[in-house]
Amino acid sequence: MSERLIIIGSGPSGLTAAIYAARANLAPLLFEGFQAGGIPGGQLMITTTIENFPGFKDGVSGQELMAGMREQALRFGTRMLMEDVESVNLAARPFTVTSTGGDTYEACSLIISTGATARRLPIESEKKFFGRGISACAVCDGALPVFRNKPIAVIGGGDTAVEEALHLSKFGSKIHIIHRRDSLRASTIMQQRALAHQKIEILWNKVVEEFVGDKLLGGIRLKDTRTGETSLLEVAGAFEAIGHRPNTAFLGGQLRLTEAGYIFTHPGTTQTSVEGVFAAGDVQDFRYRQAITAAGSGCMAALDAQKWLTERGFC
Ligand SMILES: Cc1cc2nc3c(=O)[nH]c(=O)nc-3n(C[C@H](O)[C@H](O)[C@H](O)COP(=O)(O)OP(=O)(O)OC[C@H]3O[C@@H](n4cnc5c(N)ncnc54)[C@H](O)[C@@H]3O)c2cc1C
Repeated sequence: MSERLIIIGSGPSGLTAAIYAARANLAPLLFEGFQAGGIPGGQLMITTTIENFPGFKDGVSGQELMAGMREQALRFGTRMLMEDVESVNLAARPFTVTSTGGDTYEACSLIISTGATARRLPIESEKKFFGRGISACAVCDGALPVFRNKPIAVIGGGDTAVEEALHLSKFGSKIHIIHRRDSLRASTIMQQRALAHQKIEILWNKVVEEFVGDKLLGGIRLKDTRTGETSLLEVAGAFEAIGHRPNTAFLGGQLRLTEAGYIFTHPGTTQTSVEGVFAAGDVQDFRYRQAITAAGSGCMAALDAQKWLTERGFC
């Protein structure tokens, strides 16, 4: 028998979708993921304190927040499998979903909430200091006390890097944009803003050779791409702004994607290019990429799926 709704992904978007769908008696089956695009619970599982999720006036740890969402989804009858989805077939109805466990499941509707993976520098010392001064999200971590009035680096040269630098300029004493080329990829207006900003300095033709420090990040050893010279930049924080990769490989090109590789949804809805398939959270969100917006769009996807299923007599 076909599932009414399968949800793929267990970050804030997938679990919020599950809470709404389960409370609407859709008895959703949720694939939590395992390792294909992050870990069960999603990106917040690798961060420490979240200070901007409403309802937690003193902040909440990422793991505690996600454990709470998971329990809430289970409480209303969501069934969960801690497996990755390997492939889907959206060409026939019911849709089919094949997991790494080797089983294939049928579903009348799907919610894709597999998130996006922040690209990180493939440097050994990056792993050591990630979460100890290195972050992949300025909006999330920039306001932490550890960065206040301290020099901070942003690594990258696109719009995201400049946006992160502008955001961080509210907190840090100096913001160094480290860019491997001699010109930014960012749009002209963003470049102008960065160049005109008193606190922002662009270090051209530089790549990160190593992150250094004791327990917390203390600096970055840089290498000049033209001369090969190395130098030490003292910083308390480093924000990697080298892009995100939406977790869509398992879709095998069956859904329309945006130019940047995110799942296309019809404006104002979570409806994808295939009827009955909905997308929520970072996998369809190039712009905001926050836990609260992911949860919000998870709610939208569950309501959209519920309406769609009801209009069709459930399957
Ligand atoms: C270091 C860091 C700190 C952050 N701090 C904050 C913060 O303080 N505040 C804030 O609002 N936001 C923060 N964010 C952003 C926030 O984590 C994301 O916006 C949010 O987690 C997106 O939720 P999501 O449900 O769309 O995806 P994710 O949380 O990425 O979850 C995706 C889920 O999909 C699963 N998955 C992927 N591929 C498959 C597959 N093939 N099969 C099955 N499952 C799959 C994964 O296992 C995971 O469970 C931070 C992000 C990072 C990286």
